[in-house]
Amino acid sequence: MNLFDTYIAVDWSGGNDRGATPKADAIWACVAGEEPVYLRNRQLAEDWLATRLETEAGKRVCVGFDFPFGYPAGFAKHLTGDEDALALWDWFEARIEDVPKSNNRFDVAGAINANLPDIGPFWGNGLKRDIDHLPRKGLSRTNGDFAERRAVEKLAKGSFSCWQLSGAGSVGSQVMMGLPVLTRLRRRFGAAVWPFEALDRAVAFVEIWPSLLAKSFPTDKIKDAGQVRAVANAMAAMDAQGTLEHALKKGEGAGAEGWILGVGAEDLLEAAMRPTDLPKPPKLRDDCFALPAGVDWTPVDDALARLEAAVSRVVGVEQVSHTRVVGRVVAEVITARRSNPPAPNSAVDGYGFAHGAAGEGDQVLPLLSGRAAAGGAYEGAVPYGSAIRVLTGAILPDGVDTVVLEEDCSVTATHVAFRGPVRPRANTRKAGEDVVAGDQVFDAGHVLRAQDAGLLAALGVDRVPVFERLRVGVLSTGDELVEPSQDAPSDRTYDANRPMLLQLAQAWGFEAVDLGHVPDDRAALKSRLDEAAAGCDVILTSGGASAGDEDHVSALLREQGNLQAWRIALKPGRPLALALWQGVPVFGLPGNPVAAFVCALIFARPACLKLAGAGWAAPQGFMVPAAFEKRKKPGRREYLRARMGPDGVEVFASEGSGRISGLSWSDGLVELPDGAAEIVRGDLVRYLPYGSFGL
Ligand code: AMP
Ligand code: MG
Repeated sequence: MNLFDTYIAVDWSGGNDRGATPKADAIWACVAGEEPVYLRNRQLAEDWLATRLETEAGKRVCVGFDFPFGYPAGFAKHLTGDEDALALWDWFEARIEDVPKSNNRFDVAGAINANLPDIGPFWGNGLKRDIDHLPRKGLSRTNGDFAERRAVEKLAKGSFSCWQLSGAGSVGSQVMMGLPVLTRLRRRFGAAVWPFEALDRAVAFVEIWPSLLAKSFPTDKIKDAGQVRAVANAMAAMDAQGTLEHALKKGEGAGAEGWILGVGAEDLLEAAMRPTDLPKPPKLRDDCFALPAGVDWTPVDDALARLEAAVSRVVGVEQVSHTRVVGRVVAEVITARRSNPPAPNSAVDGYGFAHGAAGEGDQVLPLLSGRAAAGGAYEGAVPYGSAIRVLTGAILPDGVDTVVLEEDCSVTATHVAFRGPVRPRANTRKAGEDVVAGDQVFDAGHVLRAQDAGLLAALGVDRVPVFERLRVGVLSTGDELVEPSQDAPSDRTYDANRPMLLQLAQAWGFEAVDLGHVPDDRAALKSRLDEAAAGCDVILTSGGASAGDEDHVSALLREQGNLQAWRIALKPGRPLALALWQGVPVFGLPGNPVAAFVCALIFARPACLKLAGAGWAAPQGFMVPAAFEKRKKPGRREYLRARMGPDGVEVFASEGSGRISGLSWSDGLVELPDGAAEIVRGDLVRYLPYGSFGL
């Protein structure tokens, strides 16, 4: 049984009215299964929520808000005399004044600080005017008895402290400006607040944090809109999968600090986000390869354009580990789960200090004991005017913004000396200078490579949404074919195309399915194609594609597979046979291995990539001087087996298309234009290295 009927996710904002046009960093709300709603200020958000909760009367509604429902332990008691977090909600509701263009949150924070020993925990005055007791920076502050973070935030990597009231990503203002609204809605609708109260009433308020789901965010122009949609749908999916209850249990024992839904249950959350249940896209239309009437010889570029238009993705989506992504196609926009680097750090081994404390000329700074190392942060702040040993990759300790290279220092046990001036922030790396958390790093359709696995890992993306591997079946036809493991009389031909095409498919990141070899026998061919259609997304056949007597492939496909024989103006290559067998596209490649290879590279590869969800892939060519001479007639585009030599690109001595050895001799193809050409040595010709075909 589901716990709830309706799920709403709200991305809150602590700032002022954001204007009429939907923008990021405003309030966004989304009901699971519906479209996100833009709410330009808190007054509108409160009205929208109230109206929605009224219309949901009689149903059980779970509303998630993305700001802390409590403060670090002890704070509620300090403010209200009561350990109850909800007493603190009432306390804020009684004091916060809020209209669309202004509010008193910084003054309230300053007043709280004033009543605490030392400076007090709140910081980050975002206003022009100074506020008593509210420092602009957090560096020199003391928290008194309160922790910097709640227990749950120590587990939620990248979360912010609720003491910080301004600055990118900060959450402190949202809490102060959110709790009063929630307090009023709670009273009006009798909502139960998780994890402080039992969820035995119609409306529940839970704390959410969309960044927990960052790796699974769908594509949306405005990130916040995508986030609330994702979280609302994830809550619904968890409830449907029976895991929401377990995730809610993780909040037990959190006391007045509160908990974030999903922390401690990340695997359940991820399972709820997994898009594997997305329906597969429909099969291709039966007439997708039909050529318009009157088209006879098709130039290569026309054929490619027609092919591109004819095919579309046929595979579904799955999630895979970032450790196994090479050759996989990204299924939906991937965003960084955290910044790279995540925090300001040192680019060198040296000594760190506050830049303002060191001037020009000889500098001597007292050296603190201890050090900051990569993976071993320095606990505590560095007082202004002191220096600390820092190693490459170390997070800059509080109070340090500049590092001087150790080679430029002389050091004693107690002091470090160097010559100024030193550039502000010298030898440091800014947080997010490479990638900022939430940045889109890969678009859907990108084919992932080894270096991409490195980037995904660096950004904390473990599971990657990719398209299922395209299953490419490879079938050889012809009575004359035998396996190379057999002795063969000379009237037999070893099947060269099948191992070649299977391994091309593998190199392109597809799942290669060996469909074996069938003789020129119509019934055998038909039953093999039937089997193949059940287990493959696309079928590559070779042989039997010309119009000769033995060409059963063409004949069968013509009768039952809506065959379209494309007479493409290219050499080497017979007509390219395109058909659909039970909805599965069939590429009938030439039997001749050289022609089969060239047609696979030029036509089958981009078509398969598009079927696999990747973009259409035109090979990258380079104009290079010819180290050969050749005259060609107009009419057909030609591909010559080629490789780079000392004087330019060389071509294989014989153009004979039976010469398979030329494929191994070559490192690429020279592409000669459709028209006539007379090439002399030194002329620039277009060279397509096999690397341009992903080989
Ligand atoms: P076909 O298209 O069946 O007329 O074949 C054209 C030429 O390619 C003939 O010489 C076939 O023997 C040869 N051929 C067809 N399939 C293969 C294959 N799988 N491996 C090697 N040669 C083949
Ligand atoms: Mg044949």
